[in-house]
Amino acid sequence: MLDSSRYKPDRSCRAKVLRRLTQWRCAKPLEKTPKQAIVSFTFDDFPRSAAEAGAEALEACGTRGTFYVASSMARQTNLMGEMYGPDDLERLEAAGHEIASHTHLHLDCSRASPTQVLDELDLNRDALRAYGVTGAASQFAWPYGETCYEAKRALAGRVDTARGILPGINRKGADLMQLRAFELTTDEATERRAASAIRQATKSGGWVIVFTHDVRNTPSAFGTRPDVLRSLIRQARDSGAQILPVAQAYDVIRAS
Ligand SMILES: [Zn+2]
Repeated sequence: MLDSSRYKPDRSCRAKVLRRLTQWRCAKPLEKTPKQAIVSFTFDDFPRSAAEAGAEALEACGTRGTFYVASSMARQTNLMGEMYGPDDLERLEAAGHEIASHTHLHLDCSRASPTQVLDELDLNRDALRAYGVTGAASQFAWPYGETCYEAKRALAGRVDTARGILPGINRKGADLMQLRAFELTTDEATERRAASAIRQATKSGGWVIVFTHDVRNTPSAFGTRPDVLRSLIRQARDSGAQILPVAQAYDVIRAS
């Protein structure tokens, strides 16, 4: 059973310092700050419950989300529950959701060479095609949020955006190769932080990205409950923000 949800990235002092430095070495700056707030809801890996309850919560508000796929996880089971199958990808894409890339093996890219990262990107894209995905999957999320400057540089020519896991509102100058994102988990503080960021972006512009994993009534520590997700989506909608999958959000910002 593949269970990369149990993998722990390097917690050594050196790794922590490198991680801090990496976030400030911008590989590709975001060109503009969107005046009207944009919110993107995203799901990583991803569990089947995200394809069901997660997608349903978005569709109920007339919106769509982004699903970052690690192709080796298809049909696996881990502590986040049952993972997606090719049928989920087909259904999500047909409904207008975005299928995006997350490496084949759920690779810690901070410990891999740029060549390995690019190879993993290719493997994942080939697998997505074999699963029937027709979209370009030109958006990416770093597994575990782990990256390094060399990997960001390598990916800059290959994907439009690469999302990390460090919190923050994306505005002009934000790194498109390590976009900031708010995690939504069973910790209630995560919902408050994401809601507060959405309110801030509504006042002063910006792009808020939210990410989670499983969407179940008893989620893992990496996931959230359907009612919590629904409430946050409604807050975003009622605030007047545009809710868009990542690729569409980036297109809107570039065209603004
Ligand atoms: Zn992941």
